[in-house]
Amino acid sequence: MRLGVPKEIKTDEHRVGLTPAAVRELARHGHSVLVERGAGIGAGLDDAAYEQAGARLVADADAVFAGAEMIVKVKEPQPEECRRLRPGQILFTYLHLAPDPEQTRLLLASGATAIAYETVTDAAGRLPLLAPMSEVAGRMSVQAAAHALEKAQGGRGMLLGGVPGVRPARVVVLGGGVVGTNAARLAIGLGAEVVVIDRSLNRLKELDALYGPAMRTLYATTETIEEAVVTADAVIGAVLVPGAAAPRLIDRALLGRMQPGAVLVDVAIDQGGCFETSRATTHRAPTYEVDGIVHYCVANMPGGVARTSTFALTNATLPFVLALADKGVARALGDDPHLLNGLNIHAGQLTIEAVAEVQNLTA
Ligand code: NAD
Repeated sequence: MRLGVPKEIKTDEHRVGLTPAAVRELARHGHSVLVERGAGIGAGLDDAAYEQAGARLVADADAVFAGAEMIVKVKEPQPEECRRLRPGQILFTYLHLAPDPEQTRLLLASGATAIAYETVTDAAGRLPLLAPMSEVAGRMSVQAAAHALEKAQGGRGMLLGGVPGVRPARVVVLGGGVVGTNAARLAIGLGAEVVVIDRSLNRLKELDALYGPAMRTLYATTETIEEAVVTADAVIGAVLVPGAAAPRLIDRALLGRMQPGAVLVDVAIDQGGCFETSRATTHRAPTYEVDGIVHYCVANMPGGVARTSTFALTNATLPFVLALADKGVARALGDDPHLLNGLNIHAGQLTIEAVAEVQNLTA
């Protein structure tokens, strides 16, 4: 199959759909890959590395879309990219169609087959192509908290791990899923005192078995959350209720009872945020203060570490890309119900119930 990798054009997006190592795997399987010149630059992957891996470099996105049977990307296609798609062409990328009727309309009109990373499942019912970005965001949230705790950033002036004779920072992690576990793991590694709060007792048991006394676990009630938050130096918001807006776990009144200069990192901001005072920020201006509490609410955290994120994403997508290229879309989807769950649009038809419901369309 002929695959194509265009340069991402969404503002501030520096990731790229395939690494040179992935191109090499595809070439070994007998496929050819067209890569737009400069596509990997933002992730520190230069054209020469793609060429060495067996890719053919082309001058622009038009050439990629015209020459490829399958397009592999990162972000949802922008209008000009949708208009380049043609009937029968495969698009494999994050789509997030539900809140985006304009993109749905353009993809339906294109006649292409669009498979969304975020709805591909695994045998345990998890979302294996979202997980790597949650791992990145979870680990990064602790770096963000450590930085925001510094005096010059408006923080309490505390070192996360303390030093001999001085207590470390208290980090409270709300939600012990993929983001929360990765946040807790990094915070423990840096020497912080870590509490994880979740409403799933099973999840707390798993975490307890994994980390033992290095991590305290608490069952989520209004009371446990309040008690933990008022003595916290940093709080990481990592809750998720699938398909719903994030639950509001900290209201403005509680901010007034927190320690001045404490830090809130709201990773769940992409689902509306789990603190009442959260509003989405960017990597260029990541923090702001409300009532003396520093808020970090970057909606696209993995974009800040585009290189790590590109490798993490490609590790997870490559087996599916290979299956689609080796078998063709019909057999690949027929053989794998989890990849089939990724199918959102096919030949002008919406194939995903959740999006149809939100947008009053039929699937
Ligand atoms: P996950 O499903 O693995 O974990 C969520 C956890 O939250 C679960 O363990 C669940 O039991 C717990 N939970 C739900 N409601 C709760 C409540 N009321 N109180 C306590 N615990 C509760 O999800 P995840 O992959 O860890 O993602 C967490 C959030 O981070 C999501 O909103 C996701 O979209 C977001 N995210 C944001 C970025 C970013 O760049 N900002 C990047 C990746 C993920």
